[in-house]
Amino acid sequence: MSLSCPVCLSNTLVPARLGATPLWRCTHCGVHVTQDVGAEEQTREFYSQHYVLHSSVAAQRERHRMFRMPEYHDMIGRILRYKPNARRWLDVGCDHGFLIDEVRRAGIGVVGVEPQNRARDYARSVGLDVVPSIDEVHGEFDVVTAFHVLEHVSDPRAFVQACAQRLSPGGVLAIRVPDYGSIWRRLLGSRWIWFQPSVHRLHFTEGALRLLLQDCGLGVLSSVRRAANTSLTRDSYWLAARTFSTYRSVSMPSFRDLAARTYQNIVGREIMVLAVQQQPSQGASA
Ligand SMILES: [Zn+2]
Repeated sequence: MSLSCPVCLSNTLVPARLGATPLWRCTHCGVHVTQDVGAEEQTREFYSQHYVLHSSVAAQRERHRMFRMPEYHDMIGRILRYKPNARRWLDVGCDHGFLIDEVRRAGIGVVGVEPQNRARDYARSVGLDVVPSIDEVHGEFDVVTAFHVLEHVSDPRAFVQACAQRLSPGGVLAIRVPDYGSIWRRLLGSRWIWFQPSVHRLHFTEGALRLLLQDCGLGVLSSVRRAANTSLTRDSYWLAARTFSTYRSVSMPSFRDLAARTYQNIVGREIMVLAVQQQPSQGASA
């Protein structure tokens, strides 16, 4: 097996291990790579049929949408600071389309990419333009977002290049991934909430992610390591839970749910990098 790093292409992968999971560690860029992602995950069918994003029960879905809404507006605000006149926005891995549903309320044209059939069907049912693959996305976008997607892909360079090719000149790419270099991952090891080697192929440090974007011709505008859930998200969790507990079909969160949520609030750390398309766009349809 040829051992070149999927992020930086150097032949600098060495065996590593976290708990019982064998990994590769790149001594050049610092990324960790899962050696054996679950066999079922390797099939396209897994993400189109079986990968559960979250409940598809209608009221629970609406609760989730309300819960995440403040976070999405926080993200939209952060990105529009760098691209205030954005007219078109592409979200890759858009799930049920909750982010682009908020983006379009700002008068911005939106397109989503989502391989999971049921999530995509839902997004289409509320009037969103969502396709199963980025190969089907044409034209240029002022903003491309990919939130907690890059850790799943097998070829991160091809993924970032596909996003970059669809950016207009000066367009902004925003990527969020779990922070493998965080203090909580170091303390908790393989028990860290977002060490999920059955579905995560790549485990990024901030340095590896920045290097990947720069290698793909993008200029890093900002890079932050942060708690994934802000106080806005913590407050909106309760707002959504109390609002939707008025529906008989949605009960208040159980103690177990609350414990899991609290745990994620504390240890869920992520990297968010905004990067700009510096070169004249090659254009997806050119
Ligand atoms: Zn590397």
